[in-house]
Amino acid sequence: MNRFQSLMLVPLLMVGTLVLLLGLVSIDPVDHRAQDAASEESAPRFEVIVLGRAQDGGLPHLGCERGCCVMARRSGRQETPACLGVRDLESGALLMLEASPAIETQVALLHELTGTTDRGRRPVDGILLTHAHIGHYAGLIQLGREVASTEAVPVWSTPRFAGFLRENGPWSQLVELGQIELQEISPGTTDGKTAPIAFEPLPGLKVEAFLVPHRDEFSDTVAYKLRGPEKTILFCPDVDRWDAHDGLLESLLDGVDVAYVDATFYDGRELPGRNILEVPHPPMIRTMELLEEMGRESPGRVRFIHLNHTNPALNDQDLQDRIRGKGFPVAEVGERTRI
Ligand SMILES: [Zn+2]
Ligand SMILES: [Zn+2]
Ligand SMILES: [Zn+2]
Repeated sequence: MNRFQSLMLVPLLMVGTLVLLLGLVSIDPVDHRAQDAASEESAPRFEVIVLGRAQDGGLPHLGCERGCCVMARRSGRQETPACLGVRDLESGALLMLEASPAIETQVALLHELTGTTDRGRRPVDGILLTHAHIGHYAGLIQLGREVASTEAVPVWSTPRFAGFLRENGPWSQLVELGQIELQEISPGTTDGKTAPIAFEPLPGLKVEAFLVPHRDEFSDTVAYKLRGPEKTILFCPDVDRWDAHDGLLESLLDGVDVAYVDATFYDGRELPGRNILEVPHPPMIRTMELLEEMGRESPGRVRFIHLNHTNPALNDQDLQDRIRGKGFPVAEVGERTRI
C-alpha cells in the first residue's frame, strides 16, 4: 500500500465507522425502548418448573413386571408423578401443584433448582390440588405430625375435595392440628356457563380452575391456568376425554402460552386386549391429531405430562423425537417457563 492509498483509506475508514455508529445509534434506542416497555408492563414474575411427569404410580410402578419397570429397577431410573413447582422471582416464595407420593423428592428438586435453603418445616408456601387420586394428593400425609409437622400451609382445592380432606382421616388430622389450611376455590366450567373466580396463591399470580371430566370418586377434578404478568400456563394432568362437549379443549387452551396436558397413554398399544376408545384419558395420538395445526404453528405450546409407566413415549427416545418433531414435546423434569 503506497502513501496515497493509505491516505484514501482514512476517510473510508471514517465513513465506515460513522455508518457503523449510526447503525448502532439508530437500532439501539429502539430496542431499549421496546425492552423497557416490556419490562414495565409484563416482566415475568414467576417461574414454573416441571418436577415430575409420570402417572400416579410413577416408574417403576408397583406390581409391574414388564420391561418398562424391570429395566427401570435394574438401572435405578425413577420417574415421579406429574407435578409443577412455582417460584416467585421477587420474593422467593414457592408453590407446588399437587402433593404427590414423591413430595420429598420433588420439593428437594424444587429447592435445588431454585437455590432455596433454610426452609425448615415450611418447605413450600402453598399447594394447589387438582383431584383426590393418590398420585396427586397422597403426599399431603408427609406434612403431618410424623414427618414435617408444618404450620398452616395453605392448600387450595375445590369445596368437595376440601370436604373430603376435612372429614376423612388421616387428612382430617392435618386440618385439626392446623398443619394445613384449606382454601376453597370456585372453578368454572369449560362450556362457558360458569366463569371461574380467580384467586392469588401468591400475590400477582392469578389462578383459575376449570372442572374437567374425570373419574370423580372422592372429589371433582380441575385443571389450573396460572397467569403471570407475561405468560399463562395450563396444568391439566388428568382428563377422561376431550369430546365430553364441544369446545372443551379449545376453552382450556384459550389464552394459554404453554399447556401441560394428560398423556397417560400413547395409542392404546400399552393396554393389550382393551379398546382404547373405552379407556378414559385421550391417547396422545388423538390429542396430536386434534391439535395438529397448533403443533405446526406453535411448536412446544402443548406439552405432554402424566405418562403411564407403560407409555412408549416415556421410554422410547426415537418416539419422543418424532412427537417433538410434530410440535408436541414430552415434558422434561427440570424444564422452566417464566410467566
Ligand atoms: Zn393421575
Ligand atoms: Zn411398568
Ligand atoms: Zn386421576
